[in-house]
Amino acid sequence: MKLVRYADSHGSTLGVARDDRVINLSKRWPELRDDMIALIKKWPDLASELPRLIADAAPDAALADVRLLAPIARPGKIFAIGLNYADHVKETGQQVPAHQIWFTKAATSINSPFDPVELPKASEQVDYEAELVVVIGKRCKHVAQERAAEVVFGYCAGNDVSVRDWQLRTSQWVLGKSFDTHAPLGPWIVTADEIGDPHSLGIRCSVNGEPRQSSNTRHLIFSVFDQIAHLSSAMTLEPGDIIFTGTPGGVGLAMKPPQWLKAGDKVRVEIDRIGAIEAVMQRESLS
Ligand code: ZN
Repeated sequence: MKLVRYADSHGSTLGVARDDRVINLSKRWPELRDDMIALIKKWPDLASELPRLIADAAPDAALADVRLLAPIARPGKIFAIGLNYADHVKETGQQVPAHQIWFTKAATSINSPFDPVELPKASEQVDYEAELVVVIGKRCKHVAQERAAEVVFGYCAGNDVSVRDWQLRTSQWVLGKSFDTHAPLGPWIVTADEIGDPHSLGIRCSVNGEPRQSSNTRHLIFSVFDQIAHLSSAMTLEPGDIIFTGTPGGVGLAMKPPQWLKAGDKVRVEIDRIGAIEAVMQRESLS
């Protein structure tokens, strides 16, 4: 199932995407409003009703007529792993890490899947990172790697937009990864049952139609389930928490000379069986 948040002339709402149309869920469950985390928490009740509803319901709108929003507006946590594809490790001149390298992205970096991404006043070195994004479905701690699939709600495509000078001039990457709009996400959450094993998905990034990254999630160094086991051994994960699972080789930083994103550039991230998000780069307004 493809779960969306979207805006139309009535405001923002939750829905299910079916083919090129959308079925409004908030109309049927008003208490959910436009809160995907509330829907995830209610999922054990909804999961049995929804397939029938979707089969019977007349669509409420064409996808083309609504604005898709980030599926999770304000995650409790956004974690992202560094150096998690061998070709990306190599292009950055690093060693394959012995331990998972984690940083966070600020909740305010969340951006809708087709909205512009800001080129900030503070830097000229903005870069893309295509990533498979995991959405946590259950409150959990100390999840064994073998059982980690049970706590995954679903998957999105994401761009871990990175401000390289801010990221790399100190040992902590957080600021360079946390600029406003630098965590675009979507275009929807594909529920985990539709994806099955998340380690065989083609993942691609293009800039203005030019291919830059092309890999497959089978090349993850630490698997999605390794990541959940590791994070949950440190802290409680909660419904709606977000995990960016790493980017393959081909980032602008590693090109010779480095290629930074410019105003007007169109960056597209696409993952097999999930879909694509696309953003135009736009200078931060000076106001
Ligand atoms: Zn990343």
